[in-house]
Amino acid sequence: MHDYVKLGRLEERALKLLLKHGEKGLLQSELWHLLGITSRDGSRVAIKLEKRGLVKRVREFANDRWTMRLISQVKLLDLSIIRDAPCPACPYNDSCGPSGSYSPTECVLIESWLLTLAESRAKKEETTVQTALKA
Ligand code: SF4
Repeated sequence: MHDYVKLGRLEERALKLLLKHGEKGLLQSELWHLLGITSRDGSRVAIKLEKRGLVKRVREFANDRWTMRLISQVKLLDLSIIRDAPCPACPYNDSCGPSGSYSPTECVLIESWLLTLAESRAKKEETTVQTALKA
């Protein structure tokens, strides 16, 4: 787990581009090109990001020479799973928690929401298995 890290503008842009390219990442020359910077400045950015644990640099032979592929170690959060959670609109939200009058461990709304999620996930997995079997 990383502590909050404040990045410079260039490092932030580099990380956003790498995030867009997921697990495949980008060759460092591709990243420098997209950022419009020299390889010298680019190397500084990559080293800074690697030192902070935000990027992995992997040696790779490409275009007839050894270079580095940069892969983001940061993942985008998918918050869609909590989109329909009852808590944000709950009138008891302010008094719900360990020291409050209400508790998620005894809440029927949360229980019902979690059951719906579990059923929906099970249906999705069943459909995936059936599709795979037909293929
Ligand atoms: S856990 Fe239940 S009571 Fe607590 S905020 Fe969520 S919906 Fe409301």
